[in-house]
Amino acid sequence: MIPYGRHDLDDQDIAAVIEVLKSGPLTQGPVVPAFEIEVANFVGARFGCATNSATSALHVACLALGVGVGSRVWTSSNTFVASANCALFCGAQIDFVDIDLDTHNMCMSDLERKLRMAESKGELPDVLIPVHFAGLSCDMRKLACLSQRFGFRVIEDASHALGAKFNDERVGCCRYSDITIFSFHPVKMIACGEGGMALTNDENLIEKMRRLRSHGVTSDQDQLIDYQDQNQWYYQQLNLGYNYRMSDIHGALGLSQLKKLNQFISIRRKKASYYDEVFNEMDDLGIINSHPEGYESSLHLYVIRQKQNGKTSKQMLDFLRGCGITANLHYIPVYLHPYYRGLGFEQGHCLNAELYFRTATTIPLHTQLTPDQQEYVIQQIKNFQAVV
Ligand SMILES: *Cc1c(COP(=O)(O)O)cnc(C)c1O
Repeated sequence: MIPYGRHDLDDQDIAAVIEVLKSGPLTQGPVVPAFEIEVANFVGARFGCATNSATSALHVACLALGVGVGSRVWTSSNTFVASANCALFCGAQIDFVDIDLDTHNMCMSDLERKLRMAESKGELPDVLIPVHFAGLSCDMRKLACLSQRFGFRVIEDASHALGAKFNDERVGCCRYSDITIFSFHPVKMIACGEGGMALTNDENLIEKMRRLRSHGVTSDQDQLIDYQDQNQWYYQQLNLGYNYRMSDIHGALGLSQLKKLNQFISIRRKKASYYDEVFNEMDDLGIINSHPEGYESSLHLYVIRQKQNGKTSKQMLDFLRGCGITANLHYIPVYLHPYYRGLGFEQGHCLNAELYFRTATTIPLHTQLTPDQQEYVIQQIKNFQAVV
């Protein structure tokens, strides 16, 4: 089977992990802070908070921004469930914004329309979670204007977008947001096994997120309540936190993988450009322009869409899977899952996301896709399109 995505490990990565197993503390030790510094430097943010997944990073990010019972959080309808679940973990209400069919990202004009309506009802969101789908950044300048105008905070779910650029700066620099989240799940841009990170430029937010990642406990003298003695052993729990720490084993893998990120992206770019060339010639297939002016996608996913030809995602997925290609669908609109329907969401809530869901397919794009495999994928897609 040819997978849609796959991690890429070499001997250096394996040696880095073995080094920790031989000599390091196995839990969070010196490697995790080194990884945080490297990622923060790479994207141009001041601080990083490494966690055991992007899901836990999203959770502590919401909590650090004060999301709780009575808060409202909005995210994209076309995303993984974790972008929405993090709000529900905090007891907040969630809602979904429709997507733009040219970028598959949250649609800024639909967002603005929805914000005006919410304003008139006194139901504006407290936090917005845009998702940089497939590695292409949302229009963060537009979003920052809306955030000033309507007074919400912003967490970028950049799980797909490590290495991507917006306005010629790296996604994660947090120029237009409070916090940015990355995922290091094996299908993402770099692999830790499991892992995630929250980036921010705000000292107060990083302090809160790091404390929430480790039980809400601190031994930092500056944070202790009513305690003056300089005892090394003393600690206090200040919040209800979690055990969301990243281990040094995972951090070592991430640190080693990060060195190869630029190379990974350039390999993805070559393969994606080849797909672009082929599919641009095919009138009934739509693709994303991954290089609008000032944007650079990390090319985490390669999605094709059926134009008005009656063919569906389901037919294409069944066909490709039948020929040994594990194509996929990113994503089922989050609110159509049974759990979310149980909260009262109904079909028709975001029409573009539903049209996208009926017509989109994620095809294989990763560093280890061989030229022969890529030709095979293209041939099978042509075969499918040729069937009436
Ligand atoms: C993968 C992913 C997540 C969750 O990442 P984990 O590290 O697996 O928790 C969240 N949001 C999006 C958009 C993702 O693709």
